[in-house]
Amino acid sequence: MNYSTVAETYRKLDAVSGRIEMTEILAELLKKTPRDELPMLAYLTQGKLRPDYEGVELGLAEKLALRVIASASGLSQDAVYKTYVKLGDVGSAAEQLLSKKSQGTLISERLTLERVYKTLLKVSQTAGEGSVEAKQRELASLLNDASPLEAKYIMRAVTGELRLGVADYTMLDACALAFLGSKGGRPLLERAYNIHPDLGFIVETLASKGLGGIQAIRVEVGVPIRPMLAERLDSAKAIIAKLGNKVVAAEYKLDGERLQIHKQDEDATLFSRRLEVITHNYPDVLELVAKNVASKEAILEAEVVAINEDTGEYLPFQELMHRRRKYGVAEAMKQYPVALNFFDLLSAERKDFTNSPYRERRAKLESVVKETERTRPVPALRTADPEEVEKFMEEAIANGCEGLVVKDLEGVYRAGAREFSWVKLKREYRSELTDTIDLVIVGAFHGRGRRAGTYGTYLLAAYDDKKANFPTVSKIGTGFTDEDLQKFPRLLKKYESRVKPPNVESNLVPNVWFRPHLVIETIASEITLSPIHPAGMGRIRKESGLALRFPKFTGKIRDDKKPEDATTVEEIVEMYNLQLKKVERVVQ
Ligand code: ATP
Repeated sequence: MNYSTVAETYRKLDAVSGRIEMTEILAELLKKTPRDELPMLAYLTQGKLRPDYEGVELGLAEKLALRVIASASGLSQDAVYKTYVKLGDVGSAAEQLLSKKSQGTLISERLTLERVYKTLLKVSQTAGEGSVEAKQRELASLLNDASPLEAKYIMRAVTGELRLGVADYTMLDACALAFLGSKGGRPLLERAYNIHPDLGFIVETLASKGLGGIQAIRVEVGVPIRPMLAERLDSAKAIIAKLGNKVVAAEYKLDGERLQIHKQDEDATLFSRRLEVITHNYPDVLELVAKNVASKEAILEAEVVAINEDTGEYLPFQELMHRRRKYGVAEAMKQYPVALNFFDLLSAERKDFTNSPYRERRAKLESVVKETERTRPVPALRTADPEEVEKFMEEAIANGCEGLVVKDLEGVYRAGAREFSWVKLKREYRSELTDTIDLVIVGAFHGRGRRAGTYGTYLLAAYDDKKANFPTVSKIGTGFTDEDLQKFPRLLKKYESRVKPPNVESNLVPNVWFRPHLVIETIASEITLSPIHPAGMGRIRKESGLALRFPKFTGKIRDDKKPEDATTVEEIVEMYNLQLKKVERVVQ
């Protein structure tokens, strides 16, 4: 297929914001695409090259992107830079600058979707000495054959800024519309995607094998499953009532890192919460799994926690972060030993357990996980009595946990969903809110006084999963140690952007913008209405968004979360409503 058809569709997508229109436009494009090119199209449309869990990254540095445009347009880097700053994104700059050039020249070869895809894949895989020049050559040659409109989307894709707003679910809707004619079968598609989160694979399976092929997709060792998430409520009583006043399972909520363990014989692959492969960080976990999980082939979930070897006590999450490194893993392994608390089992000996109720999954888990000093099924209590749950919570906290996750005994494993089948109960003494909020740093303001020379305040955004963008909710300046103040600018450097990233919504203009990447945990005294911040604009009151009051950094960098895993606008609206209910209770 010609890339011009794709670029033309992207232009249309850029011009609409409603999900229905977007879905229809995308469905048309899917129908026109040859089957074997569908995966390429699915990835590219989301600004990706492969499913997330394979870790293939686009994201060419701004500087190199501008050099590519200079080389393809024959203009000076200075001229390109000026246009870029004026227009605000590399894609528009490429479009404008190349349109000047192409008036005189003939495009030598029509670009195909395949050529664009393969070039971008090659660029993303080029590393080492001479790679900068090689990347520049490949891309400039692509741009030479591109129309201005094509160049716009190629440059946006390659810098990781395509941002057509096509969320995963919009893509699934479009697939249903294109290949099923109506939206019947949509839940089946969603389930398939959640247990095999590779849109390219899903689209191709649907197009070639129909709904039958989709239904035949099973969980598979080696393919990560989107994690089931927990809702939040503020008391054991409320949780038990919500779960139907029956016996529930209350489990310790450990403060570690979530691991999805895919065991195959003596070996295993470890996926993080954001479904990245992190096997290399935990050679000791592989050993523990090989020794203490009595199943040849299984998918399990566990919270890995740092421990004090002498006392067996759990250490806070931060200690684990020492394990997240490329080099010196063996050293870190000795210094920061870990224990595993298994809390779920999703498959064993090729039997898919995701549709089995919790009670069956737990029974199977208990039968395969050996209880040792370093491994065990997470402590759990079955009861229908809120007081017992509260007591168990005290015990959990005394044992170094954050609180509890209370689970419905009949609940199946709903991959990728945050529902009231798992409800977390934490105790945040410091706040009126029932939970911490994980936000993305999108900007920073220069500091003054003690913070001169570094950033004094950061601008934070939540994730809007309907619009697939990041609206701001808060500025934050407290909770940072001197060490943090030094460290943050270093961590953020590579995400700096001279213009507001297109997927950020903000009425404030910081001194420096950052592309949304780094997620930090915050706590606030409450959520308030705000005319300034666009998160949840109009949801509670017309012309008001929501903002955090007295936000504070807890010290936790959530690098186990992608920016899209940050707290969503929807959750913040829900927390605002929960807070109102609390106030009502006090007033009554
Ligand atoms: P949080 O910031 O509270 O960890 P989160 O957004 O990472 O929240 P939630 O779905 O809200 O994820 O909470 C569930 C998380 O708690 C899981 O991702 C997992 O890492 C951790 N956890 C610890 N113990 C358990 C348990 N017994 N069952 C399920 N999850 C547990």
